[in-house]
Amino acid sequence: CGIVGYIGANDSKEILLNGLEKLEYRGYDSAGIALLNDDGMNVFKVKGRIATLRDKVDRDVSANMGIGHTRWATHGEPNEENAHPHQSNSGRFTLVHNGVIENYYEIRNEFLTGITLHSETDTEIVVQLIEQFVNQTNDVLAGFRKALSVLKGSYAIALMDNQNPERIYVAKNKSPLLVGLGDGFNLIASDAMATLKETNRYVEIEDKEVVLVQRNGVEIQKLDGTVVDREAYTAQIDA
Ligand code: GLU
Repeated sequence: CGIVGYIGANDSKEILLNGLEKLEYRGYDSAGIALLNDDGMNVFKVKGRIATLRDKVDRDVSANMGIGHTRWATHGEPNEENAHPHQSNSGRFTLVHNGVIENYYEIRNEFLTGITLHSETDTEIVVQLIEQFVNQTNDVLAGFRKALSVLKGSYAIALMDNQNPERIYVAKNKSPLLVGLGDGFNLIASDAMATLKETNRYVEIEDKEVVLVQRNGVEIQKLDGTVVDREAYTAQIDA
């Protein structure tokens, strides 16, 4: 299972699909990508191979930001509905997740009564929770932080807001995820292997940090909003 994400000047579609192919060795049963452009959010998902996903993705859609996912099902069988990305009910938020949310059932009962769910995954709970908290706080970052403070378990998460094409919201806890730095673009991946075509400069993310990945910069914060200053490093890896 794995995650990729890209924001920059180029079309993200091929970068995401290539990245997912590089993550195939980690094992997966389904895959999907979400591409955000001026027309809105475009989500494509399949049960099965990245090659199948590649066939399904509309070649005419281009977008300079997007997120992708390979799923290793833990909650809900491998099928198209349960494949990621998952979206909040208004359609505003789109999310990919690796890991297991241990308290998804409690979250559903405490915060999401009356909310219609469209999959059997623990992951959909996260994106619906974020939407609830954003509605309450009227602030995406505050809502995202509040949701993270409620989650128990392991996660690598990337979130897109279709009202803000300037950033991808990222967080992790006990699941791998790193940021790759480029010139005029930035990306994220579970594994550096997925990014080697684009960059060999990285910034590490620590557990329970919030990372704002933008075209021209990356901001890392602690859960309380304190900004973290972290050096990038260059990796010598042969592709
Ligand atoms: N627990 C999530 C699911 O079953 C994510 C699994 C994964 O890490 O791919 O959909």
